[in-house]
Amino acid sequence: MTISSFHPPRRTLMGPGPSDVHPRILEALGRPTLGHLDPLFVGMMDETKALLKYAFQTSNELTLPISAPGSAGMEACFVNLVEPGDKVLVCVNGVFGNRMIENVTRCGATAVRLDFAWGTAVEPAAVEAALKEHGDIKILAFVHAETSTGALSDAKILCGLAKQYKALSIVDAVTSMGGVPLMVDEWQADAVYSGSQKCLSCTPGLSPVTFSDAAVAAIKGRKHPVQSWFLDMNLILGYWGEGGKRAYHHTAPVNALYGLHESLVMLQEEGLENAWQRHASMHKALAAGLETLGIRFVVDADHRLPQLNSVYIPEGIDDATTRQYLLAKYDLEIGAGLGDLAGKVWRIGLMGYSARIENISLLLKALAAAMGEQGIACDAAKAVAAAEATLV
Ligand SMILES: *Cc1c(COP(=O)(O)O)cnc(C)c1O
Repeated sequence: MTISSFHPPRRTLMGPGPSDVHPRILEALGRPTLGHLDPLFVGMMDETKALLKYAFQTSNELTLPISAPGSAGMEACFVNLVEPGDKVLVCVNGVFGNRMIENVTRCGATAVRLDFAWGTAVEPAAVEAALKEHGDIKILAFVHAETSTGALSDAKILCGLAKQYKALSIVDAVTSMGGVPLMVDEWQADAVYSGSQKCLSCTPGLSPVTFSDAAVAAIKGRKHPVQSWFLDMNLILGYWGEGGKRAYHHTAPVNALYGLHESLVMLQEEGLENAWQRHASMHKALAAGLETLGIRFVVDADHRLPQLNSVYIPEGIDDATTRQYLLAKYDLEIGAGLGDLAGKVWRIGLMGYSARIENISLLLKALAAAMGEQGIACDAAKAVAAAEATLV
């Protein structure tokens, strides 16, 4: 058998990530590969760091992309800050909080687990009570934008509580960066990680991270070496660090970094505030359209993520049948529910380049058709009109 080149169809990606990659970014990925120590490439790395500082709203010197997906950014924050014997307070309101617990345990530390109902935000009062009760929490960890449920937590208040109780904060901002306000310096967040494939609309596989001075001091003052060689920030700095000689650590994913650079240039061109505004207004349009189809949100209006919309699957509609129909007939992907929400909800992403009215109209038409096929008549034109009416 001869296997020939792979040519994927052009899908519309409206799930929990990856999001639609902008054509400008796809084009950037195909530019000539440079050596990873080429002075021109090193110059582009410095620009990427500067652009990431803007995206994170930070002046942290230690701001760079980890050469691996968001999960590696998560792991980088935990393995560098957590030492055996430490106590880490982990807020769990979805899938990604559970993964944080896994990370803490594997670092030989104790995870103090604080659970919140899926689909709700982390409650600051409960976090403060736990910080007070334990008194020796070294790190507070939480997910800013829970992609598994669509809930947004108040990172400003939570990071403030960490400071007040002399703890460091680890913040999962994989889905928040570029989609909702993320103000690392103003909120005094200590270690924050993100991902390339959500609201930055880049290809999957890179994870921007940033560490505050307090976090860097904690890394430098460790009693035990970082358990991961690849993710040890002390070593990564030898390659990504400011000034001095760039030493080989690993071969940077050169072309993937062209893509990230392009996505960050586009974010700068649009302006962060405008990007947040675009996600908010597209969310409003989607919500108006879904409402006419009788589809309800999982998360209450005050804590909804504009870029990730969890909605209940209507009575009489089958989850898998619908998602397969959208993919087969409309080349359109939406996300399934996870954990307790599996089979009960859909997760509709409006991330980055996916957050466009054309995508929303396509989704509303496709959903109405899928529901019609299953015997629930819906007015697609009315749904699209309702969505468009929010934009005028
Ligand atoms: C997607 C996601 C991750 C993991 O990122 P990967 O690139 O899939 O490894 C972590 N946290 C949150 C909140 C996410 O949405």
